[in-house]
Amino acid sequence: MNNFSRRNFLKAVGIGGAATLASFGCAPNGVATAARNGHVVVVGGGSGGATAAKYLKRFSPEMTVTLIEPNATYYTCYGSNWVLGGNAEMDDITQTYDALQDRHGVKVVQDSVTEIDPARRTVTTAGGETMNYDRLVMSPGIEFRYDAIPGITAADAERIPHAYKAGEQTRILRRQLEAMPDGGVFVMVAPGDPFRCPPGPYERASMVAHYFQREKPRSKIIILDNKEAFSKQGLFMEGWEQHYGDMIEWVASSRGGQVEEVDAANLTTISDGGFTEFKADVLNYIPPQTAGKIAMDTGLADGFWCPVNQQTFESTIHPGIYVIGDSAVAGAMPKSGHSANNQAKVAAAAIVRELAGLEPLAPSTANTCYSLITPDHAISVAAVYSYQDGEIAGVEGAGGVSPMGAPASVRQQEALYTQGWYDGITADIWG
Ligand SMILES: Cc1cc2nc3c(=O)[nH]c(=O)nc-3n(C[C@H](O)[C@H](O)[C@H](O)COP(=O)(O)OP(=O)(O)OC[C@H]3O[C@@H](n4cnc5c(N)ncnc54)[C@H](O)[C@@H]3O)c2cc1C
Repeated sequence: MNNFSRRNFLKAVGIGGAATLASFGCAPNGVATAARNGHVVVVGGGSGGATAAKYLKRFSPEMTVTLIEPNATYYTCYGSNWVLGGNAEMDDITQTYDALQDRHGVKVVQDSVTEIDPARRTVTTAGGETMNYDRLVMSPGIEFRYDAIPGITAADAERIPHAYKAGEQTRILRRQLEAMPDGGVFVMVAPGDPFRCPPGPYERASMVAHYFQREKPRSKIIILDNKEAFSKQGLFMEGWEQHYGDMIEWVASSRGGQVEEVDAANLTTISDGGFTEFKADVLNYIPPQTAGKIAMDTGLADGFWCPVNQQTFESTIHPGIYVIGDSAVAGAMPKSGHSANNQAKVAAAAIVRELAGLEPLAPSTANTCYSLITPDHAISVAAVYSYQDGEIAGVEGAGGVSPMGAPASVRQQEALYTQGWYDGITADIWG
């Protein structure tokens, strides 16, 4: 491919590179030229969309790529729990689109897509612009299902933040934690599967405990869970006991954790048919989720999420539209930034090849997820996936989780890798 050696590619891709290794390795030089007249519009400049825009230009420099994103800056959800714990600032999780535009030649439009016409292949924005596309990539993230239980609506999110889209919500929750008196109760309601970032709520509890331990040691954290088990559970619980004693209490769905109603005015959750109530000083209700609103409005979902051809990420409902990231149904891959980044490269390669009249390749992808229990104690899970029999499936024997009972030096090393992962993935997406 033009101006892009295999060595540079490996350097640029870093740890998130498994996806494109397969795709790029086989893309012949002619692809870029053949695809140069294409116009690809990317909706959403988050983990998936920004990667897709950048890699479309890398794979096919002469292609016109337009990225539409309403916000001038993007706050990564990864790292937002560290802000809640007081060991990172909002500046540390802020990304911009300058490099995409200035260095990679992506046309960045600061606007919101309000309508997509899959038959005419047009998108319309809130600013009143309508543009044609040859292929469309959608990575609009998630929307919240506030109608799942009674007593709480989206309008309550300022008093009862979800903090599951980073930015102002992160600031609100941090301020509430700071204002909470010592001896107060922080109640988190965690959603059932599938949802964005399976370890996210439990890393959050860890980081809040880290903050309480220093500033408000008599306080308590209760996690009300709409499921029976959670990601890296043994490792989290081992770390909680080791560092925080009994400060964190986790309640499984069958033991009263399944919240059936919220009394928003009184910051109280109701479960067990009304028999169990938890009164919070700070309530963090993380609602169940769907694909991003624009994906739902465009009819790309079957139920709550968008089915795709898992070899290319092209929608199985609307041809010519590729759905990646949290909105997509991606086989065994979890909804994570790392997954979105890998999926974006698969979709970008598939689009470039398709516009050049070439068959898609069978992609390999990966996911890694680090979680901090303290700033010096991290745990991780990693997996490798391949496309088999029409689905993305885990590769047996590849990946794994941190060992139980590991010495402090191993946990500390993983905490260093956590920061390294953040620096690597954000450079790969927005750098
Ligand atoms: C607390 C927490 C911790 C996490 N930690 C990790 C972690 O350690 N590792 C990890 O890999 N993942 C982590 N994640 C998950 C990760 O943040 C998401 O999975 C990832 O960002 C999904 O990427 P996406 O592109 O699908 O959506 P997003 O990154 O949310 O991007 C969606 C973008 O689309 C834009 N958009 C929406 N609608 C429109 C529209 N109509 N027009 C134009 N633009 C639109 C939005 O403004 C947004 O910028 C974490 C998540 C949370 C909540």
